[in-house]
Amino acid sequence: MARLTDGFFRLTAPIGIAVFALVLLVGLWGSLIAEVAHDRAAQMRSGEIQAANLARTFEEHVRRASANIDQVLLHLRDEISTEGRGVARQGELLRRSLPPDMVIQLAVIDSGGRLRYSDLGTAESLDFTDREYFRVQRDSTSDRLFISKPVLGRVSKRWSIQFTRRLTRSDGVFEGVLLFSAEPAYFVNLYDSLDIGENGAVELVGADQVVRASGARKPDVAQAAGTHSSENYFAAERPDSEVFVTPCPVDNGSRITAYRRLTDLGLAVVVHLCNNEVLTAANQRAGLLFFGGGVVSVLLLGCFAVIIWLLVRRQRDGVSLTAQTLRLQRSNCELEAFAYAISHDLREPLRTVNSFLGLLVRRAGTKLNDEEREFINFARDGALRMDHLINGLLDYSRIGRSERPFESVPLANVAEITLANLHATIDATQAVVSVMPNLPTVMGDGDELIRLFQNLIGNALKYHSPDRAPVISIAWRQQGAEWIISLMDNGIGIPADQYERIFGIFQRLHGRGEFEGTGIGLALCRKIVEHHHGRIWVTSSEGQGSTFFVALPVIKGLSTG
Ligand code: ADP
Repeated sequence: MARLTDGFFRLTAPIGIAVFALVLLVGLWGSLIAEVAHDRAAQMRSGEIQAANLARTFEEHVRRASANIDQVLLHLRDEISTEGRGVARQGELLRRSLPPDMVIQLAVIDSGGRLRYSDLGTAESLDFTDREYFRVQRDSTSDRLFISKPVLGRVSKRWSIQFTRRLTRSDGVFEGVLLFSAEPAYFVNLYDSLDIGENGAVELVGADQVVRASGARKPDVAQAAGTHSSENYFAAERPDSEVFVTPCPVDNGSRITAYRRLTDLGLAVVVHLCNNEVLTAANQRAGLLFFGGGVVSVLLLGCFAVIIWLLVRRQRDGVSLTAQTLRLQRSNCELEAFAYAISHDLREPLRTVNSFLGLLVRRAGTKLNDEEREFINFARDGALRMDHLINGLLDYSRIGRSERPFESVPLANVAEITLANLHATIDATQAVVSVMPNLPTVMGDGDELIRLFQNLIGNALKYHSPDRAPVISIAWRQQGAEWIISLMDNGIGIPADQYERIFGIFQRLHGRGEFEGTGIGLALCRKIVEHHHGRIWVTSSEGQGSTFFVALPVIKGLSTG
C-alpha cells in the first residue's frame, strides 16, 4: 500500500507542480491581460471625452468667427441702407476690426450678379450669377447668413469660404449680395493649439458633406477643403453630436471621431484623434507590464523547472536506493540462510570427530602416553571450541528469522529471568546487581530480549576487574520517542577506539588465555536490538567500568513496567 502511494506520489508530484506552475502563469498572464485591457479601455474613454471637449472648443471658435463675420456683414448692410455712405469707407473700417488672417475680401454684388465693389480694388465688372451663394440669396425669401463651399476667388484668386447676406430694398425686392470672403484656414488653425497629436485632425464640414476647411499636422490625415467627406454628419438618423471610432487613414489603425453640428450655420465641426496616440501611455504601461510579466514568468518557470528536476532526481535516487536496499536485504537473507545451513551441517562431522576421539581415548586406555593423551585432548578441545563457535553462529543467524510476531514484553520480567539464569555466576563472583524499578514495556520478541540482557549482564560479570567484586546497575529513562536502557558495570573497561569494533562478529579484545569467549555476544546483541528497531552503543572509562546503552522505540499505549 505504502509502495503504491509512493509510486502515485512519484508520478503525481512533478505533474502537480507543473500544473501548479501552469495555473500560476495562466493566472499571472490572465490578470496582466485584464489589467492592460482595463487600462486601454479607460484610456479610450478619456480619449473620447477629450475628443468631445475639443469638438466643443472647435464649435465655440467657429461660432465666434462666424458671428463676427455676420456682424460685419449686418453692420455694413445697415450702414449702406440707412446712411447711404460709401461701402468702401465702412468696409475699410470694419476690415480693420477683424483678424488680418481671417479676411480675404469684402464685396458687393448687384442684383444682376455683377461685382459692384471689392475692397481688393478691382475695376473689372465680373459676373457672379453662377455662384451658389448668389442663387441662394437671390431665391431666398428669408434674410439669413449663407456660408458657401470653398471656392477659388475670381478677384482674390485664393480659396475662400463665402459668407453672404442678401441686400433687399425696403419693398422687398432683391438688390444684390453682400459678400465676405474668409480664409478657410482661419477656422481650423486652432488645431495648432489643440492637443490632437501628430495624427489628429480637425475638419469643418458643410451640411452638403463638402469639407469647408481642415487642419492637421500631417497633410493626408484630414480631408482636403472642397472634397466630399466620407461621413454624412447631417444624416437624419444621427444625433447633433456624437463620438465614435472609425478607421484611421494613416496607420491602418482606428481613430476617435467627435463631431458637433452647428445646424443654424449648416456646418459641423469634426475632431479626429488617432487611437494609437490616445493609447500611447496605456501602451507604454502595457509594454512595461508585459516585460515585467515576462521576467517573472521566466523566473517562475526556472524555479519550477529546478524544483521538478530536484524532485525527479531525488525520486530517481530514491528508486535506485530502494532497489539497492532490496538487493542487499535479499543477499543478507541468502547469506544468513547459507550461514545457518553451513553451521547446522558443520556440527554433524564435528560431533563425529569428537565422539571418535572419545572412543579412541577409551579404547587405547593406558596404551597412550601422556604426550599422546595431551594431543588428543587438544584436538577434543579444538573441536569443542569449534562447536561453540558454530553454535554462536547458528544463534546469530537465527535472530530475526523467527516467525513469532512481536508482543508487549515488560523489560522488568526480562531482567528478572536473566538474573535467575545467571544466578550461579552472580553468586560465584559475589556480584551486586541492581535494577531500577518500573523498567518499561516494549514491543518485541521475549526470547531475543532475554538473550540481549543475558549477553550484556554476562559480559559485565565476565569482564569484571580482578580487584573488586562486580557491581552492575540497570537503569532506564525516556528520551523523546525512545526508551534508553543503560547497563553500567565497574569492570575492566574498553578502550575508546574499540567502541565500535566490539560489536562486530568474532571481534574480541582479549585472548582465550585471559577470558573465554567467541566474540559473537555483542554482534548478537546488535542484531537483536536492530531487529527491534533500536540502537546499541557503549561508553567506558578504561579500568573503571563500562556502560552499554540500548535505545528501543516507545510504543504509545504501553506503560512502563
Ligand atoms: P566475547 O565476550 O565472547 O569475547 P563479545 O562480543 O561479547 O565476545 O565481546 C566482545 C569484546 O568486547 C570482548 O572480547 C571484550 O573484550 C569486550 N567487552 C564486552 N563487554 C565488556 C564489558 N562489560 N567490559 C569490558 N569489556 C567488554
